[in-house]
Amino acid sequence: MRLDRFLSNGGFGSRSLVSELIKEGRVQVNGRVVRDPSFHVDPKKDVVEVNGERVTYRQHVYYMFNKPAGYVCSTHDPKNETIMIFFEENPYKRKLFPVGRLDKDVEGLLIITTDGELAHRLSHPKWEVPKEYYAVVKCDANKLDTNVGKEGLQIGTLKTKPFEIRVLSDKEVIIRVVEGKYHLVKRILAHLSCPVVYLKRIRIGELTLDEDLKPGQYRELTDEELARLR
Ligand code: URA
Repeated sequence: MRLDRFLSNGGFGSRSLVSELIKEGRVQVNGRVVRDPSFHVDPKKDVVEVNGERVTYRQHVYYMFNKPAGYVCSTHDPKNETIMIFFEENPYKRKLFPVGRLDKDVEGLLIITTDGELAHRLSHPKWEVPKEYYAVVKCDANKLDTNVGKEGLQIGTLKTKPFEIRVLSDKEVIIRVVEGKYHLVKRILAHLSCPVVYLKRIRIGELTLDEDLKPGQYRELTDEELARLR
């Protein structure tokens, strides 16, 4: 693989940017400065360093992010601040994107990755990957019929897939849905006369939000977590 491609895939920027790095003499291969962007490296064997720091080649990266309220889930937005602001310092930032979306005012678990294939699979309706949300509601949640989602619901023109509701207290519920329709949880709960006042995603498939992550923080998925998502 060309050295410029290796570094670009490694998150060091576009091919032209990494070419500059290389030409400036800031890149070493096996301990020797290499100034030729087309120099061939073997990602499995060669030791590549930028400014003296070892670069490990990874095809993709996967992060668990605790999204705070107030940010939109996209990579660019002319009007709103996006979640990407939390990845400004990340070397892969140009290639990262969120898997699916949470509303601007919604918090919680979001996967951020460079892997389009995994993102596609997790978001595809055919796989019905379950997602769990913790909701604070404005009603007496004890009065909710917890069987109401068994067959799905007709809400105006929207027919939902079956979903589950668990009541935690008079103001808190856990709701589990298997689709990613726009405002789905808010629409379901509003339809049940239990409007949402706070919403947080806590689970996607077998992946649970790490409670140690404060809103705005992220960490890499462990190999085990990644395997569970696949
Ligand atoms: N349901 C919603 O209403 N909003 C979200 O962001 C996710 C699910």
